[in-house]
Amino acid sequence: MITTPLVFTSPITDMPRISDTHAKHLARLGIHTVEDLLYHFPSRYDDFSKIYKIAAIERDMQVTLAGTVSKLRSHRSFKKRMTVTSATLTDDTASVRLVWFNDRFVGQSLRDGMAIRVSGTVGADFDGVILTNPVFERAARPPVSTARLVPIYPETSGITSRWLRWQVDEVLRTLGTVPDIIPKDVRTTLHLPDRTTALRYIHFPRTPDHATLAQKYFAFEEMLLVQLQALRIKRQWHSEKAVVIPDAPEAARTFAATLPFTLTGAQQRAVDAITRDIATETPMNRLINGDVGSGKTAVAAAAAYAVAAAGYQVAILAPTEVLARQHYSALAQMFAHTDFDCALMTGAVKMYGDRKVTRPTILKRLRSGDARIIIGTHALIGEDVHFHNLALVVIDEQHRFGVAQRAAMQRKTRAVDDGSASTIPHFLSMTATPIPRSLALAFFGDVDLSVLDEMPRGRKPIKTTVVGSLERRKTYTFIKKQLAAGRQAYVILPLVETSGKESMAHVKAATAEAAELQKTVFADYSVGLVHGRMKAADKDRVMRQFRDGAIDVLVATAVVEVGVDVPNATVMIIEGAERFGLSQLHQFRGRIGRGSHQSYCFLFSSKNVDPPPERLRILAHNTSGFDIAEEDMKLRGPGQFFGTRQSGLPDIAMANITNVRLIEHAKTFATRILDDDPTLAEHALLAKALAKFENDVHME
Ligand code: ADP
Ligand code: MG
Repeated sequence: MITTPLVFTSPITDMPRISDTHAKHLARLGIHTVEDLLYHFPSRYDDFSKIYKIAAIERDMQVTLAGTVSKLRSHRSFKKRMTVTSATLTDDTASVRLVWFNDRFVGQSLRDGMAIRVSGTVGADFDGVILTNPVFERAARPPVSTARLVPIYPETSGITSRWLRWQVDEVLRTLGTVPDIIPKDVRTTLHLPDRTTALRYIHFPRTPDHATLAQKYFAFEEMLLVQLQALRIKRQWHSEKAVVIPDAPEAARTFAATLPFTLTGAQQRAVDAITRDIATETPMNRLINGDVGSGKTAVAAAAAYAVAAAGYQVAILAPTEVLARQHYSALAQMFAHTDFDCALMTGAVKMYGDRKVTRPTILKRLRSGDARIIIGTHALIGEDVHFHNLALVVIDEQHRFGVAQRAAMQRKTRAVDDGSASTIPHFLSMTATPIPRSLALAFFGDVDLSVLDEMPRGRKPIKTTVVGSLERRKTYTFIKKQLAAGRQAYVILPLVETSGKESMAHVKAATAEAAELQKTVFADYSVGLVHGRMKAADKDRVMRQFRDGAIDVLVATAVVEVGVDVPNATVMIIEGAERFGLSQLHQFRGRIGRGSHQSYCFLFSSKNVDPPPERLRILAHNTSGFDIAEEDMKLRGPGQFFGTRQSGLPDIAMANITNVRLIEHAKTFATRILDDDPTLAEHALLAKALAKFENDVHME
């Protein structure tokens, strides 16, 4: 048989001893090539590095023993329907029994008199100490699975860690030097080893320090790719042209003066950054990373004003009907003193000025440019929606829109109508929930960030209480006092389903809960209900009644639908709070605390969850959405902060997400590399790795 020498990119099936069945199993782990195999990193290591004397071992110790096999025998136990193999291992101090269940391989590989090493945890039975199912190796072989830090891999059926160790060991011994993708000067500066060494260290570290160094190496490698990708997107974006709004800073200032409040420092800084951005022809791509209630709408409105005042169109995208309508009424009010026409376009309603209009009418107004400020849902993205001179796109709750939808908006350029030089609109995105700083630093390199971490003045921090089942009655009594004083309350029954559609069962439960509350606890007050299955017009009516005070207690299923701003609503009950992430609860809670009265939030758990989980207390002690987001990330991992744009990010970079210095280095070096070599022509390996990385992230 002729075998081609193994290289990094060889398909896994080029390796000796890898059958088609193995290959099929490996594919489930995403392993198709030698490279994939080597990048299948251990999730942890078992420390079997110390070789113990048999006389010294005790129950529950993790040990490696070296000795000689005797009394090897296998028998089938018919009662337990399994094969049992047993042997005795003897060193110069004592003997110990070894036993394996259902491991035919042991019987075939061991012989009496053979010198071996075994690793495992010491157990005991009525005859004394025993090792059950220990891993073993011939003493003559270099240690792979015993007598060292032993890598434990993510496994799948048919593929064990033990098997993976053999394959990886084999590859590492035959492969030779693996070319580096991190430039040498960068490695030197950061005291990183070369890739070949890093690969050896991550799989077979001789000391824990080796493992740590290797992890740093691969975390950096991934961060460098992430940053390179982000920078390339940014540069690509910057190579386009957008409409110049030279007077934007002055216009925004004029607008801010018409607001009934003064902008916070953070709002002012965001407005300054945005207006500076759009005063140049480089397209803006900015994300407002803001806490709930930090006043993102006013910032967007100031930008919209500047663009509209210059004679261009602005599109504002909201993820739901209700949010779109809310923005529409808020903005129509803010722009009442101007002569700009506002329009609303959602699946269900089309408004122009303050009149309901037909779809063809609205489309005509968008195309003619009469509609200057257009608020809408996904309905605005449609292929048949054309603008006259769209210059700014604002995306509220950006995580709920995908890359494709952004791209579609990007294509709705000024050129559509007049056929002149092609421009793309400026983009302004807003988060629904603050993104932790470290995460933003690591993964939002393609956008410029404005952080709103300052609340409008005069807000009283919300008092949050985690309520155990015994205190429920007392809490209701407290809430009734608030209602008696003229305040209003939300009862949130959050939606767990992620599909976005509420199940009928959920709606039924909410309906029953509202009826029950009306009949019992809140009999003296008016209880209303909104849920996701209601018609938009009905939802609107209930919401209006709540805002006007005709409803005292609003029971709501999907809290997104109560994005309404009702400053007199100062009490919120969240049922089943234990099922939600901290960031999400913080977001719900942001619906209260918007007026001058003290607000209260009560976190109730489901009936069978008592006492409520400890983590909920973080909310009681913390009012900063950024701090809560950091805590949430520690508890549940960073995945939840990403929408479609960033799923499937590499684990090892994630594990090092809080290593801010490493991320900053990655950013610095990525910038330097691209400055010197924009097309990566002289960094062929890096270019290839980047292409693979982009493809992998894309595939998820
Ligand atoms: P979010 O950032 O959650 O979208 P909004 O834009 O809805 O917040 O603003 C929340 C509330 O705060 C609104 O009622 C808004 O009018 C008010 N608001 C915004 N900025 C200020 C400010 N600088 N001073 C006082 N109130 C403000
Ligand atoms: Mg908002």
